Amino acid sequence: MLKDQYNRVHDYLRISLTDNCNLRCFYCMPEENYAFMPSQQLMQQEEIVALAKIFIANGVNKIRLTGGEPLVRKDASEIIRSLGQLGVTLTITTNATRVHHFIDDFKAAGIHSVNISLDTLQPEKFQLITRRDQFGTVMDNIHLLLKHQFNVKVNVVVVKGLNNGEILDFIEWTKELPIHVRFIEFMPFDGNQWKSDKLVTLQEMIERIALKYDITAAENAPHDTSKQFNIQGHAGSFAVISTMSAPFCSTCNRIRLTADGKIKNCLFSEEETDLLQALRNGKNVQELIEQSIQAKHRELGGQFSKNFELINTNDLHNRSMIAIGG
Ligand code: SAM
Ligand code: SF4
Repeated sequence: MLKDQYNRVHDYLRISLTDNCNLRCFYCMPEENYAFMPSQQLMQQEEIVALAKIFIANGVNKIRLTGGEPLVRKDASEIIRSLGQLGVTLTITTNATRVHHFIDDFKAAGIHSVNISLDTLQPEKFQLITRRDQFGTVMDNIHLLLKHQFNVKVNVVVVKGLNNGEILDFIEWTKELPIHVRFIEFMPFDGNQWKSDKLVTLQEMIERIALKYDITAAENAPHDTSKQFNIQGHAGSFAVISTMSAPFCSTCNRIRLTADGKIKNCLFSEEETDLLQALRNGKNVQELIEQSIQAKHRELGGQFSKNFELINTNDLHNRSMIAIGG
């Protein structure tokens, strides 16, 4: 069992398959020319499975595939199917632009729930945020997943002055569709234009939604990173991921593995340990994993506090989100 010095058991692994992506969301990918990792630097299919097995032997029971965009990787299908045989809950976070090619793979791998990123319900704004014209495909694929009975969660990064005016539109969207919308507080990463005044907090979102809708707080699962709500008379529901204004570090059970095989014990950790090199050199990977988990900071990677107004992004040491794996 992977327990840290604060007694938190770590049983949920997020594996980034690639830092490559076919969209260019400004909050995720740095502004300056970002060079994707060369493919030999990435974990290969057998290496991903080998590392996943070590984590599973140490108590990991849930794996989420992410990136970059996991479904742009050429061998995504094989990776998904081979991880599907490891007997853990398998899920994926995707921008949904390529989901239509993977429905059979998801089913074969036992994936039941898919998280999709969509920050706007307006095609022109989608183009502005992602710098690509893929709104229609994403929408079609959300409907395709619903048709195939997948549990669909839609991640919306809320940025003041950009899409905060659409919060109620997203809530209205859940009236007929059984979609779970998750509003995410905008987080600071390398080169992503974050400023505290662009943040819309959990409290601000709830106040706004409650003015128009009859909402009730739902039960949260033990390691939930979001505050869940039901909406009277709606087929869907919503949640807020309040990493910045109300972090959930005390119950954190997450471990991240970057596409180049480095373990990060926190989304905001500066420290990384190279498991891929260790695996390739026949070193003791398990020991490195244990050391990394032991070294985990109490909260927010030890880099900032809940008082987000005091954050100076120049003082943060981290990769960009696209290179971490969200
Ligand atoms: N490409 C996939 C996608 O977009 O869903 C998976 C990778 S993406 C990095 C994972 C999640 O991180 C997405 O839901 C995205 O919206 C979120 N994300 C990226 N940058 C963020 C930021 N600065 N603040 C909050 N969430 C962010
Ligand atoms: Fe690509 Fe996802 Fe990042 Fe957008 S959020 S640039 S889709 S990895």
